[in-house]
Amino acid sequence: MFNQRGFSLFGIFFLVAVVVVGGTAFYFASRQKSSGKKLVGVTKQSREQCDLKPKPREFSLAPYYSGPLVDAHVHMPIASRIVATVAKQFGFEDMPVLEGELSPQNLFCLFESEGIKQTIGFHMLSKFSPSTGHIEQMAKNYPGKFAHFYLPPPIHELLISPAETEAIITQPQGLFRGIGEISFEKGTFTRASPFDQPFSDLIEIARKHKLVVMIHPAASHQDEIKKLATQFPDVTFLLHGGQEQEWIAGLLASHRNLYYSLDANMTSLYGFERRHDSEPITKEQWLAFIRQNFDKKVQEATSKWKAKIEANPDQYVWGTDRWYGWQFDYEVGGLLEEFARSLVGKLDPAVQQKFAYQNAERLLGQ
Ligand SMILES: [Zn+2]
Repeated sequence: MFNQRGFSLFGIFFLVAVVVVGGTAFYFASRQKSSGKKLVGVTKQSREQCDLKPKPREFSLAPYYSGPLVDAHVHMPIASRIVATVAKQFGFEDMPVLEGELSPQNLFCLFESEGIKQTIGFHMLSKFSPSTGHIEQMAKNYPGKFAHFYLPPPIHELLISPAETEAIITQPQGLFRGIGEISFEKGTFTRASPFDQPFSDLIEIARKHKLVVMIHPAASHQDEIKKLATQFPDVTFLLHGGQEQEWIAGLLASHRNLYYSLDANMTSLYGFERRHDSEPITKEQWLAFIRQNFDKKVQEATSKWKAKIEANPDQYVWGTDRWYGWQFDYEVGGLLEEFARSLVGKLDPAVQQKFAYQNAERLLGQ
């Protein structure tokens, strides 16, 4: 989600300093290995090796959608433990690493158990950890299961230059399907406009290579998003945001190259009280909250979105916005899935599959 909770300027500078020092070693190490590091436990028989059964339902809302899903918004755990440690120390609420419980194989099995046929996954690559080896390996081991996006870290000093970005994300051809999430609510991006450098260059790269651009605009970016959609009619933009960005829904009818994902906001995955702005919500708090409020939250989402989805049925997609380590937990994932299926069940049967997976597939050019 990349929520509002910023980090202090001091934190950013310290983060940059530590990453520069610590990251340099990693940078050279990762550069020497052309295809990145080996990830444990990944084999071709990945599906047969999954022993996760679908989590039984806890609620009984009906009608219930039981078809395929595409999760259109997932922040993938990152490959560099150094970057993860430093990032957490200096402001990111969590930065899980792609290993152990969160190995690609375990993520694959988790999403399989939830009936998710494909996941749009955002991979943060920085100036000091630009290797795509782990992503190439996932693409090879799980063909068609992940649509990989390049996520620029929301700190200008850590960004890969546009020229290098173009080289990285277009080699090998077709590895990346998009650029994003570009969050204008996080880090030093909060002071930027999508028309500033390097964002305009990134959008140009996306246009040239037919990549989707995923943006979390600032609350004040309504004119900028309208202008982007108009100036780049051949670029597909996937947008989302919190309550401050619900104006996006109003732009869909007049701009067919805009898509909007409904995700963490509906499920309060990043908090349900003011205190969660400064104190990240825990797994136990979220599980207790969603279990107490499940029917009410589905009803709330239905009242808010059903008519809007049905009015522009080709431009809404569903996502979870998982990011923190605990958000990839089996119980958490099962409840997010049950929430999605309960909500989809409330929609006109003619639009259920569109929202659940077909729009996401079209967005990805499938
Ligand atoms: Zn976001």
